[in-house]
Amino acid sequence: MTDATTDILLIGGGIASAHAAAELREQGYDGSILLVTREMDAPYHRPPLTKGYLQGSEARASTLIHSEDWYAEHDVQLRTRTPVMALDAAARTAKLGREQVGFGQALLATGAGIRRLQVDGGMRDGIHYLRALGNADKLRGALDGVERVAVVGGSYIATEVAASLSLLGRQVTLVMQEALPLERGFGPVVGRFVHDLLTEHGIEIVAQADVARFDGDGEDDAPVTAVVCADGRRVDADLVVVGVGANPDVMLARKAELALGESGGVLCDRTLRTSAEAVFAAGDVCEYDSVVHGRRLRIEHEEVAAAQGRHAARAMLGATEPYAEIPYFWSDLADWATLEYVGPALRWDEEIVGGDPATGAFSVLYAHEGRLAAALAVGRPDDLELARELLRSGGDVGELRERFRSTQPGSRT
Ligand SMILES: Cc1cc2nc3c(=O)[nH]c(=O)nc-3n(C[C@H](O)[C@H](O)[C@H](O)COP(=O)(O)OP(=O)(O)OC[C@H]3O[C@@H](n4cnc5c(N)ncnc54)[C@H](O)[C@@H]3O)c2cc1C
Repeated sequence: MTDATTDILLIGGGIASAHAAAELREQGYDGSILLVTREMDAPYHRPPLTKGYLQGSEARASTLIHSEDWYAEHDVQLRTRTPVMALDAAARTAKLGREQVGFGQALLATGAGIRRLQVDGGMRDGIHYLRALGNADKLRGALDGVERVAVVGGSYIATEVAASLSLLGRQVTLVMQEALPLERGFGPVVGRFVHDLLTEHGIEIVAQADVARFDGDGEDDAPVTAVVCADGRRVDADLVVVGVGANPDVMLARKAELALGESGGVLCDRTLRTSAEAVFAAGDVCEYDSVVHGRRLRIEHEEVAAAQGRHAARAMLGATEPYAEIPYFWSDLADWATLEYVGPALRWDEEIVGGDPATGAFSVLYAHEGRLAAALAVGRPDDLELARELLRSGGDVGELRERFRSTQPGSRT
């Protein structure tokens, strides 16, 4: 027996669910919508947690995706602090705490959870991770009196945190496995640019380092005092922030026996429908069959999650088009540089550079077998748009190659 019913159940309090709700109403849908999240807060943007909100320049209220009044105004029932414990896709019921709720269709948008470093001393006081607003509040609160910070990780979360904390006057050391920051995803040109940018702003980089343990002043729960690397290098720190990636949160999907994909996400078809007829997925958790890339993809970026939430909403209303957006991502390193990227490229055999990284305005095209696979731009939005168009049409990279060659440093334009 169900205690209540809703036409559409949106599971998860992130941007995917928030945009799904908005799209349903914008499409004129007048059925009941229930959005459920286990968090205390209404859906909010996570990117500010490493940027303006962490730096103290952005207020909490401005991180909200919809204002507090929006939900009532749009007749969307919002339930915070409510974990969905179980989902029966065939019976179309969900367990919200002790309550059983029936639904017509559901969106699974449970996002991702932080990956924790499993090393000795990993539970020490003063080691922080960033996923939720509460994590950022705790980190901000702990910064008083702190001089030396070690940030573990070489990807965008870690580099953004390093830049923000440096902006706040802390002495920051980045400890990472990579030779150059962001190199894994974006190659050596971008890696060198980010490395130089961070070091010019006083951030120290300890590269090609595996964290072996966190030292402290006493037992395992005593406050952290240093990051110790496997090769013996030691970084003294009063506080540590770890940003080493996230895992899709498929706990509920697994329990519901939905099919999972190779990247560990919830397997979806081209329209973002899961293996269950009445259940769609969107956002960090969604592993979909991309008609643009001709392969399965799972993307952890905010604009993708928003677009997928909207697409899934239209699919619930009967639309049958495949999801065909070109994934876009941006990253801010304090107010020093913004990186923008379209792709993603799993592999590439050519990097074509336009502009000059030394001037702070450049772009990189990533080509594979003569076809554009991705592009990254700093301060050159037009390049990004051209690349986006080319990715959409699946075209040959030849024409852009010529255009980019003519903007190489030292070449005539
Ligand atoms: C610190 C940080 C900075 C970022 N910066 C950028 C950036 O600069 N640019 C960019 O493009 N992307 C950035 N991202 C990535 C972006 O924020 C994510 O891609 C986006 O938040 C994914 O949205 P989502 O709705 O899929 O999931 P999430 O935002 O993870 O939301 C999922 C929600 O579901 C809830 N939930 C999970 N399971 C249950 C359950 N069983 N019952 C109820 N609720 C549940 C979770 O608590 C959470 O509220 C950043 C991410 C982080 C963490």
